Amino acid sequence: MTATAPITQDVMTIPRKLPEGPVNLVGLTRDAMRAALIAHGTPEKQAKMRVGQIWQWIYQKGVRDFDQMTNLAKPYRQELAENFCIEVPEVVTRQLSEDGTRKYLVRIAGGHEVEVVYIPEEGRGTLCISSQVGCTLTCSFCHTGTQKLVRNLTAAEIIGQVMVARDDLGEWPAPGRNPKDETRLLSNIVLMGMGEPLYNFDNVRDAMKIAMDPEGISLSRRRITLSTSGVVPEIARTAQEIGCLLAVSFHATTDETRDKLVPINKRWNIAALLDALREYPKVSNSERITFEYVMLAGVNDTDEDARRLVKLIEGIPAKINLIPFNEWPGAPYKRSSNNRIHAFADIIYKAGYASPIRTPRGEDIMAACGQLKSATERARKTRAQIEAEAGLR
Ligand code: SAH
Ligand code: SF4
Repeated sequence: MTATAPITQDVMTIPRKLPEGPVNLVGLTRDAMRAALIAHGTPEKQAKMRVGQIWQWIYQKGVRDFDQMTNLAKPYRQELAENFCIEVPEVVTRQLSEDGTRKYLVRIAGGHEVEVVYIPEEGRGTLCISSQVGCTLTCSFCHTGTQKLVRNLTAAEIIGQVMVARDDLGEWPAPGRNPKDETRLLSNIVLMGMGEPLYNFDNVRDAMKIAMDPEGISLSRRRITLSTSGVVPEIARTAQEIGCLLAVSFHATTDETRDKLVPINKRWNIAALLDALREYPKVSNSERITFEYVMLAGVNDTDEDARRLVKLIEGIPAKINLIPFNEWPGAPYKRSSNNRIHAFADIIYKAGYASPIRTPRGEDIMAACGQLKSATERARKTRAQIEAEAGLR
C-alpha cells in the first residue's frame, strides 16, 4: 500500500491479535475457536468438547477467568491462560438518563471509542450496538457521519458490547436460573449505533452468530435487527448468512432527496434498493422489513411524500418507523412538527401499514438515534495516524 492510498472499506479491520500477545477467544466462531485450541496443543479429539465447555463459560455464565472454568482440569486451565485471553471492551463512562436509558462509552484496541446504548422498555430491553468507529458514509442528518475517525470493529468488539452491557445489568445467569428466560433485561439487539454494519459484514455476522448460539447468549434471530443505509449487494447475504430482521434507512421518496440525505443512494438508488428488499423476507424467513424514516421539517415530510412512500413499498411486508429528527450541535435540519409527523403517520396507517413514531430516548445524555459520536479530542486523529495504527502504512 502506498502512503497516499485512501483507506477503503475492506482494509479497515485491524488484526485481531497483536503479534506476540495471547489470542482473544471472544468473537471466534466455534470453528475458529476449535482451530485455535488445536494450534495451541489441545488434542484434536477433545477439541470440540472443549469448545463447548469454554463457550458455555464465556457466553452463558459470563466468566472471564480460566481459573473459574471448574469442569476443566487445572493444568489445562493453566495452559489456556498461557495462550489465550477473554477480552471485552473497557467501559470508560456510563451515563444514566432520566428515562432509564444507559449510554456506555467503551474503549477498544488502539484507544478508539464507541458508544453503546441500552434502552429499557415495557417487557423488553434493547441494546443498540455499534459496528464501526464512526462511519465512512456521510448521511447529512447523522452526527456519526460527521466523524472522520473510522475503523471496523472486530467480532470480539461487537459481541463484547453485549457482554459488557450484561455485566452492567448483572444479567449473567446465576446457578439454577434459566438463561432463556423471556423476561431478560437485555432481550433484543439492534445494530443501529455507530457505523454501517454491512460495510463490516463478516465481523457483524460472526458476532451475531455468537449472540444467537443457543448455548450462549441465545437470542432468537427475530430479536436482532440490523439497520443498513442500503448496501444493496450485501442484503441477500444478510438474509442467507445472518437471517436476522432487517431495517433500512429509507428517509426519502425521490432519488433527488435521498441522494442528499443518504448519499449511498447515488450508488444504489431507490429502485435497486427496493428490488433487494423484495427478496429479503423470502430468503431469510423473516417478518416485516422496517423502513426507517427520519422526519425532517420541510425536507421529506409532506403528505405527498407519505403517499409516495406507500406506493413505493407496495407488496413488501413492511412497517414504517417514523423517527423524529434528533438534533445535534450544528445539525443542518430541524425536526418536523408533531402535527406534521402525525399527519404523515396517518396516511401510512390508513394505507394498511403500522407506522409507529419512535420516541426519542435518552435525549438528556445524547443517546438518541443518530446522536452518537465520540467527542474525545484524543480520538480525533488524522487518517494517517489511524492507518498507521491499523498497520496499513
Ligand atoms: N448505519 C446504519 C445504522 C445506524 S443509524 C443505518 O444508517 O441504517 C440508525 C438509524 O438512525 C438510521 O435509520 C439512521 O438513519 C437514523 N438516524 C441517524 N441520525 C439521526 C438523527 N439525527 N435523528 C434521527 N435519526 C437518525
Ligand atoms: Fe453512517 Fe448510518 Fe449515520 Fe448514514 S445514518 S452516516 S450510514 S451511521
